[in-house]
Amino acid sequence: MSLELWDGFCEKCEKSCCTIGQPVIYPFERQAIIDAGGEKYLEEYDGYSILRGTPCPFWKDKKCTIQHCKPIDCEAYPILVKPGDNGKPEWMIDPDCPACTHLSSDFIKKSKFLYNKLTPEEIEIDWKILISLGFNPVKLELLLGSSDL
Ligand code: SF4
Ligand code: SF4
Repeated sequence: MSLELWDGFCEKCEKSCCTIGQPVIYPFERQAIIDAGGEKYLEEYDGYSILRGTPCPFWKDKKCTIQHCKPIDCEAYPILVKPGDNGKPEWMIDPDCPACTHLSSDFIKKSKFLYNKLTPEEIEIDWKILISLGFNPVKLELLLGSSDL
């Protein structure tokens, strides 16, 4: 979803995560999505919102049209976060993304930084929704050898 980061990968990607998107919209992101015209695509889920649409309603000409308020879930993908033991986040990755083994350490750090803005409750709900949508993430270190990139 972060097309500007993957150049080649995202442009050539046949899967294109934005065509199956459905990111969680956290309460602090909601107004910006509404201002961008997305209110009718927001579906409530346990006090949170999911941006519904396949493809995503903001996906036009193979580009995200809301770069100024792109949701964290999109910005960080294919890095994902799972509620871990002792309240610590557990870093995961979606192996279905063709770019998943080509991520830069800067990108991984940025994704973790974004997710670290979330509360444990938000991480919990994000994970619950991901699994309900059929994602099948694996631990980051299993795919990349280390979660401390
Ligand atoms: S699935 Fe991965 S490679 Fe494909 S568009 Fe999304 S981020 Fe880019
Ligand atoms: S908000 Fe943008 S990056 Fe996220 S799914 Fe929609 S088009 Fe893709």
